[in-house]
Amino acid sequence: MNKTHLLEQVDYLVIGAGILGAATAMTLLQRYPHRSVAIVEKESGGAAHQTGRNSGVIHAGVYYQPGSLKAQFCQQGAEATKAFCLEHEIPFEQCGKLIVATSPLEYERLQQLIIRAQEHQLDVEVISQQRLQQLEPNIAGIGALLVKDTAIVDYKQVTRRMLDKVVAAGGQVLFEHQVNAIDTCNAGIEVTTSYGVVAAKTLISCAGIMSDRIVSLLGLEPEFEMIPFRGEYFLLPERHNQIVKHLIYPVPDPSLPFLGVHLTKMIDGTVTVGPNAVLAPGRESYRHGQVNWQDCRELLTSKGLRKVVFKHFKASVSEFKNSVFKQGYLHQVRKYCPQLRTSDLLPYRAGIRAQAITKQGQLIDDFLFVKQPNCLIVANAPSPAATSAIPIAQYIVEQLHLADED
Ligand SMILES: Cc1cc2nc3c(=O)[nH]c(=O)nc-3n(C[C@H](O)[C@H](O)[C@H](O)COP(=O)(O)OP(=O)(O)OC[C@H]3O[C@@H](n4cnc5c(N)ncnc54)[C@H](O)[C@@H]3O)c2cc1C
Repeated sequence: MNKTHLLEQVDYLVIGAGILGAATAMTLLQRYPHRSVAIVEKESGGAAHQTGRNSGVIHAGVYYQPGSLKAQFCQQGAEATKAFCLEHEIPFEQCGKLIVATSPLEYERLQQLIIRAQEHQLDVEVISQQRLQQLEPNIAGIGALLVKDTAIVDYKQVTRRMLDKVVAAGGQVLFEHQVNAIDTCNAGIEVTTSYGVVAAKTLISCAGIMSDRIVSLLGLEPEFEMIPFRGEYFLLPERHNQIVKHLIYPVPDPSLPFLGVHLTKMIDGTVTVGPNAVLAPGRESYRHGQVNWQDCRELLTSKGLRKVVFKHFKASVSEFKNSVFKQGYLHQVRKYCPQLRTSDLLPYRAGIRAQAITKQGQLIDDFLFVKQPNCLIVANAPSPAATSAIPIAQYIVEQLHLADED
């Protein structure tokens, strides 16, 4: 086969220009300024998928299992992200977040979260019903937890700045280069993209929802599969831009991996509601009616997914119903913000969460990495991976360094 080589062999090739790919390439160049680094990205710009379609929250790290990678990286990441924003004059706002209980069951679950937040030594305050009224007159609840360090930012802006730094440090960012094949050989790795071949000594994949497909391209049988959970948002009309001062979150159901529909102040001054979590008929099917038949076939034949749906049947049906009928969606928000009406829910872009599951049908909660000789794949990086991007990148670089020493 005639191969067009796009670059001389690079030391490190990163797949994906979301926040993880950008942070990893940036960190590699900071640590090894004399080595060559390139990113290949299938879209025409950075942050085109999860990174540019999320809630924009810098999480403080309340929810995560002590000892998990999420717990470790989220707290470090929140500090690192704010420091990065300060250094690069990217606006962020530390508005804090209120997790609001609206029923005795939620109040009981809130107590567990309070204990967890204390275990993580976060700056939190338990808020009574009366104090909640003073803090947020438009929010109804029987108690809340105030997490003071939670902040908001535009992750697209953060990622673009990271990509600029990659280029400024001599790295290359190749957009519209979809990775279609990967050959591993003793000398390194050859990656065939839609424009030609890039040879690399080491490959790092930060391909989001495509991570299992990258594992397959390496000729390995992935032990996990990626499931697309669409998170649909609505925008509130401008007159509601001051409706809340903090981010308002419900108390999450501990049996589900998602945080529930929240009221989110965005860094541009608007307020959004969302996201829900509904199974999408395609890994990049952002709109209703947009179906990818190949992805659908995989979803329909996935035994793991069948088990997940069976286990969470009630929640799956309810999320689907609320996705189709605005009234059901609104009902979830009105539990804590009763003044909102259906007419307040204006269209807004959706995001798709890349959630890994095992073949046995377990949702993989923590961040997951697959290591191979000369290669590291970020397999599962759901929320709070945007918050955690900088320490995740440092972890990846450290893992590669350790592998080099072996
Ligand atoms: C609705 C929603 C809300 C969220 N809210 C938050 C939040 O408030 N705070 C937070 O911390 N996290 C949040 N998250 C999670 C966070 O957005 C993600 O964890 C993070 O963006 C993951 O970054 P990534 O770089 O791994 O993936 P992505 O941003 O998805 O980037 C992967 C990139 O790889 C590219 N790619 C894939 N396959 C190929 C290929 N074959 N060749 C070349 N390129 C390829 C894609 O085009 C894409 O650009 C949210 C996620 C969603 C979906």
